[in-house]
Amino acid sequence: MGEREALLERVSADGGTEIKDPATGEVIGHVEFGTPDDVAAAVEVAAKAQPGWAALSDAERCAALMRAADAIEAHAEELAYVVSREQGKTMNGLGARYEAAGCAAWVRAAASTPLPVEVLVDDESGHSELHYRPIGVVGAITPWNWPMIIASWQIAPALRMGNTVVNKPSEYTTLSGLAIAAVLNEALPPGVLNVVTGAGDVGDALVRDRRIGKVMFTGSVKTGKKVVEASAGNLSRLTLELGGNDAGIVLPDVDPQAIAEGLFWGAFINNGQTCAALKRLYVPDAIYDQVVDALADITAKIPMGVGLDENNALGPLQNQMQWNVVNRLVEDAKAHGARVVMGGDPDTGAPGYFYPKTLIADIGNDAALVQEEQFGPALPIIRYTDLEQAVEWANGVDVGLGASVWSADQDMTIAARLEAGTVWINKHGGIDPRVPFGGAKQSGYGVEFGVEGLKAVSVPQVISR
Ligand code: NAD
Repeated sequence: MGEREALLERVSADGGTEIKDPATGEVIGHVEFGTPDDVAAAVEVAAKAQPGWAALSDAERCAALMRAADAIEAHAEELAYVVSREQGKTMNGLGARYEAAGCAAWVRAAASTPLPVEVLVDDESGHSELHYRPIGVVGAITPWNWPMIIASWQIAPALRMGNTVVNKPSEYTTLSGLAIAAVLNEALPPGVLNVVTGAGDVGDALVRDRRIGKVMFTGSVKTGKKVVEASAGNLSRLTLELGGNDAGIVLPDVDPQAIAEGLFWGAFINNGQTCAALKRLYVPDAIYDQVVDALADITAKIPMGVGLDENNALGPLQNQMQWNVVNRLVEDAKAHGARVVMGGDPDTGAPGYFYPKTLIADIGNDAALVQEEQFGPALPIIRYTDLEQAVEWANGVDVGLGASVWSADQDMTIAARLEAGTVWINKHGGIDPRVPFGGAKQSGYGVEFGVEGLKAVSVPQVISR
């Protein structure tokens, strides 16, 4: 066993369900999946640990989180190895090492963002101040696309604010969830951060547990709606980071060559399995062919393959279910006469869930590949002649996580009209731990990151005299 395999070995069970590398099918470890009954025990531990953790000073909790970030950095290569083998993303590029480094950065940010008491009124009429108190036990439910960094986004702010946490990783990336928690727990007191493994029934039991005061949920719109229903009995607070179908609108004044790389990574980061990836691209007729050609040039150059190969920049899809979604949407586009510029012809005999980098041009806005979230490496490029029409199309879906405008003059007028939680100009998907992130419409509610993210995992309390 090599050094970078040590963490995978540590979190892998002796028996249970085999976990396979999505690039090769090789068994990389085992997981003992929990049941709804295990939730109660995990919440019990978290509830017992919470008063002691909340009694520490803010500075003491921040110091513990800083030590947790040190632990992430010390184990960064091992963490990257786990997520590469289990999720499929490449070690290199915007892949596994990038995710591990992001975990440390977000934990540090949660521990260093100031949240002072706010004095709201201080005059002859009286004195009122606003404090942010712990909620209690936070349930954190994570998806499989960025399993470690999303866990960090949920866990670190919740802990900073004096809550304890029960995390349920996605059943597709349990080892990644166990690995990041194990490393964080090297620096945290016992009972403060707990993990319960399992599928949707376990997540449902966590949401329904009466001792859970807040649920941080990141996943699909469909499951988000179930979480809302299941949480109603407790009126627990919710942050819902749900799916997106982000539009990008190119304006006619751009240089296609200059934006091609940004468009590519906006769409293909993590092989398209990213909540706020560019999922529909609207390009004006006047420069349509140039933009498609420039994108095709860069797309052809990016190597896809097994994540452990340092030369690769894109890996496989994580699972068969997602492969089927991408394949169905591309086949539907082909059947309706859209033009395949590149890809669209998966080698179904090869090992792993590889789907080729795919660009689909001359596709109608009503195509399923445009209207549904593909969550994979297949980008539809829609031609427009009237900018008003493009804005209407961009806003014409139920979700609104991110969006982007690509324009030489960087004007914000079009950006302001797009119904999305974040609108980027001349980039897509870039996030920053200091800047709030969340969705509009059915992409969810509540935000993560920054001071707003800390407030979201606490109860505001006014003290007035
Ligand atoms: P999913 O909704 O299938 O699963 C997410 C998590 O919810 C998993 O841990 C799953 O086990 C759990 N779960 C399933 N049923 C449940 C239930 N009834 N109650 C409670 N928990 C339940 O999502 P996924 O396929 O893992 O993730 C992909 C989706 O997540 C995409 O739509 C993507 O856009 C979205 N996403 C959003 C963000 C964001 O920040 N907005 C980030 C990443 C992914």
